[in-house]
Amino acid sequence: MNVYDSARMAEVLAPLGYGAASSPEDADMVILNTCHIREKAAEKVYSELGRLGLIKSAREADGKAMVIAVAGCVAQAEGEEMLRRAPVIDVLVGPQSYHRLPELVAQVARGGGAALNTEFPPEAKFDHLPKTRDAQGVSAFLSVQEGCDKFCSFCVVPYTRGAEFSRPLAALLDEARQLVEVGAREITLLGQNVNAYHGCAGGLGELIRHLADVEGLERIRYTTSHPLDMDENLIRAHGEVPVLMPYLHLPVQSGSDRVLAAMNRRHTADDYRRIVARLRDVRPDLALSGDFIVGFPGESDDDFAATLALVGDMGYAQAYSFKYSPRPGTPAAGLPGQIPDAVKAARLAALQSLLRSQQTAFNRACVGRSLLVLFERPGRHAGQLIGRSPYMQACYADAESHMIGEIVDVCILEAGANSLAAELIPAPSRPKSRRVA
Ligand code: SAH
Ligand code: SF4
Repeated sequence: MNVYDSARMAEVLAPLGYGAASSPEDADMVILNTCHIREKAAEKVYSELGRLGLIKSAREADGKAMVIAVAGCVAQAEGEEMLRRAPVIDVLVGPQSYHRLPELVAQVARGGGAALNTEFPPEAKFDHLPKTRDAQGVSAFLSVQEGCDKFCSFCVVPYTRGAEFSRPLAALLDEARQLVEVGAREITLLGQNVNAYHGCAGGLGELIRHLADVEGLERIRYTTSHPLDMDENLIRAHGEVPVLMPYLHLPVQSGSDRVLAAMNRRHTADDYRRIVARLRDVRPDLALSGDFIVGFPGESDDDFAATLALVGDMGYAQAYSFKYSPRPGTPAAGLPGQIPDAVKAARLAALQSLLRSQQTAFNRACVGRSLLVLFERPGRHAGQLIGRSPYMQACYADAESHMIGEIVDVCILEAGANSLAAELIPAPSRPKSRRVA
């Protein structure tokens, strides 16, 4: 979502004459768009600000100004405290008010210190953002929902992003058409809790069915979903909408019912097993991804074993896993039974080793198969392109650059943990061109 928000900030600032700079040294303004989800991400912001402060001083010595802005959830959560800790900041703007960046920048130009806006304004941010979109490449993001009302006990999102809000269907169809017009072939629908989308009566399933009719849009994905919001309409869409890709990121966090209850996830491990089984009924080749937290307060060896057992039952094509990070202001941060870091580290290593072996097995099972790859950009070596399979695997192959934006049939030659080597399957079985100018 921060990638999407950053693109929108660039669009909002373009009328003032701002464009992308190649390095901070060349920039009249630098925006750090920040994440507060875990402590490590939040702390990184301060070291980055230290580095930027030196660049700012060097520019000032040359008679050039530099505006330093901090956007996103760290700005939201820490507010004025952040200005005290890092006086180098000129602008502080929360994730729900970045449409006001032009005013804040003007305020700084007038002098009188830092400009700050971390409101949850009554007007919808999206109504004040430019209606036209700049090119975001072959694969673009589209925010459809923001905020969260679930209040999982470990999570800052409800406090930093605010209450759940869904954008209206018509606005999303317009933005999707715009993105396709400027080159997108694939759109990933975004939300902190994307499947809680309620901008139309049929929820995310209905939105996906409408988007599937947008001409030139060949692939749809969505992230991140909560198991409780996996309704029947959305599940059926996985079997009925061909452009909806067979890949789902469905975090479970833990395989222990006791821990799930303490996390306030409001479902059990077996509920999750049933939801995934139902999805695989309608889409047998669905590749599953997830998020896991190890070392939640009170997590015992047995609880952790239940997580490993769930992972063993599900089979993940890919996953993210984290050590529990206490976040200020969340209920879990004050729970007894905080787990020592060494235990968290050992559990994380065991879980990641299992997840990695599943990911490698999933990738190896693709060797010798043909897959449709959407080429997105040049690969690491000359003459190579890189793109994604329907299952979200990164695939690279020798291909000419005009094929960026095409969906091409490739044969998988080799599989690593993180990518697949492929070769083009010669035409005529390959479609000539699906590019739209
Ligand atoms: N809405 C999604 C998750 C959004 S946050 C869901 O409910 O599943 C993205 C991921 O960050 C979470 O799935 C969780 O695994 C991780 N995360 C959130 N808060 C965390 C914390 N305090 N410590 C460690 N990981 C955390
Ligand atoms: Fe955070 Fe996701 Fe829980 Fe919402 S549902 S509180 S975003 S983990």
